[in-house]
Amino acid sequence: MSESKRLFFAIAIPPKIQKQLVQWRADHFPADAGVPVAAANMHLTLAFLGEVSAEKQRALAAMAGRIRQPGFTLHLDDAGQWLRSRVVWLGTRQPPRGLLQLANMLRAQAARSGCYQSPQPFHPHLTLLRNAGQAVPIPAPGFHWEIPVTEFALYESRFTGGRTRYTSLQRWTLSE
Ligand code: ATP
Ligand code: MG
Repeated sequence: MSESKRLFFAIAIPPKIQKQLVQWRADHFPADAGVPVAAANMHLTLAFLGEVSAEKQRALAAMAGRIRQPGFTLHLDDAGQWLRSRVVWLGTRQPPRGLLQLANMLRAQAARSGCYQSPQPFHPHLTLLRNAGQAVPIPAPGFHWEIPVTEFALYESRFTGGRTRYTSLQRWTLSE
């Protein structure tokens, strides 16, 4: 039996913006607000797959490769906190239709492949702080990062050496 991997589809955040977000976070949140997500780990999840066998991974990748969709621009201009999951996040006031279509497609394919999908609606977000159990003041609107999205990727998540690391396994270009 082949070993399984913990996988998810996501959009990468360019390293330059990851660095800007780290600085912005340091400037706008108290140090004890939560556990900061490492710059290299900042991403936007499209679909979480869970533990997946090598065979299922191949099937999911083949389906992802058949998606035909143009790229889009992501505007990170919204922020908030979910107390239940204890995260502070960055998001977008107006999710581009392309982003929602891509996520819906990947989530539907994942569900058909037997990967449990949360019934909660997709809320595109980038986690900035974890273990943020106390309400923290959210910076006033006015911040804005613009990210041209031209590809998405399949990531493996591994907890090693006391921290979570993601590895990009495969990438697909968004084009019609
Ligand atoms: P940790 O090791 O602390 O759990 P993590 O949450 O970043 O770190 P994973 O749990 O492997 O690592 O999750 C990878 C990505 O998938 C993250 O964006 C996470 O928010 C998302 N994710 C994890 N579990 C689910 C789930 N059940 N439903 C939807 N998204 C999930
Ligand atoms: Mg997790």
